[in-house]
Amino acid sequence: MQLVPRSDWGAPATTPAALMPTAKGVKVHWIGGRYTTGAQHGDQCAAEVRAIRQEHLSNPDQRWVDIAYNLVVCQHGVVFEGRGAGHESGANGNQPLNLAHYAVCAIQGTNESASDMLKVGLRDAIEYLQAHGAGPEILGHRDGYATDCPGPELYAWLHAGAPRPGGTVPAPVQQPTPATRAPAAPAWPGRLLRVQQPMLHGDDVRQWQQRMRDRGWSITADGWFGPASAEVARRFQAEKHLAADAVVGPATWAAAWTAPVT
Ligand SMILES: [Zn+2]
Ligand SMILES: [Zn+2]
Repeated sequence: MQLVPRSDWGAPATTPAALMPTAKGVKVHWIGGRYTTGAQHGDQCAAEVRAIRQEHLSNPDQRWVDIAYNLVVCQHGVVFEGRGAGHESGANGNQPLNLAHYAVCAIQGTNESASDMLKVGLRDAIEYLQAHGAGPEILGHRDGYATDCPGPELYAWLHAGAPRPGGTVPAPVQQPTPATRAPAAPAWPGRLLRVQQPMLHGDDVRQWQQRMRDRGWSITADGWFGPASAEVARRFQAEKHLAADAVVGPATWAAAWTAPVT
């Protein structure tokens, strides 16, 4: 993931927004309105993030203390740190909605379509928040609030599971015949496998480790997710063009079974 820290795009290094270490998931927004993205990533993108923050700070109806979004993603797939991980957003419509989900905004105008790179960046942003306290829900602003945001294209993509372009998740809906069936992944255990204190341990870790062993990785299937497991996860993610954060989430879990062994 290409992440631009707050201080690199012109915001103060820390946000005054309230801390919120966990949420049910992530809601995605768009800027709406007319906007034309430049051919190349550049200062135009950072300038737009500054403009959004300025607009939010000067909004008389809201008492926003900062840009309302946790993260902002441009059409080139670059992720800008807004309030960042672990903070309550101000974007979802009201406080109960803000307490339920973090908020990610796409710099996509109503006159533009969503590029694959935008979806890659949104996927990166979602997985980043999932690695920092967000639960599995992936929704749009209009889920639970009367708005068109984030537009029809992103909304449909979100409700298809927000698949990474060129990635392997979610599994295809159509059921192939047994003879041609792609290897199916067992259900994701529902928790992120990652290095943490106390060290994560369980049959889900062991199952993933055994699968990685079967794929040819040098890893012990002892059920403990330590630094060696994290390193295998990170290298596997890099090889499969997943966000290389060394955290086994739904995409990385599924890819362990469905991605071709190379
Ligand atoms: Zn919105
Ligand atoms: Zn850009």
